[in-house]
Amino acid sequence: MPVPKYRTSASKRNMRRSHHALKNVGVSACPNCGEMKLPHVACPSCGHYKGRQVIELSKFTPEADSNSESTTTDKA
Ligand SMILES: [Zn+2]
Repeated sequence: MPVPKYRTSASKRNMRRSHHALKNVGVSACPNCGEMKLPHVACPSCGHYKGRQVIELSKFTPEADSNSESTTTDKA
């Protein structure tokens, strides 16, 4: 198995990591319910996408609903 010949200097390591910063997610308000949602993704709170209902949220169990609530609190 090949092994690096030289230790990576702090300068080279930091130059490599200069691209590792996370960028903001482009969230936008849902036109149906106003909840913040990701672009090109059905709204997790009301199930609408492009002006129509695409997900029946009543089919999900209360456990799944609690999971979706926790994710919404993480975003906020
Ligand atoms: Zn919505």
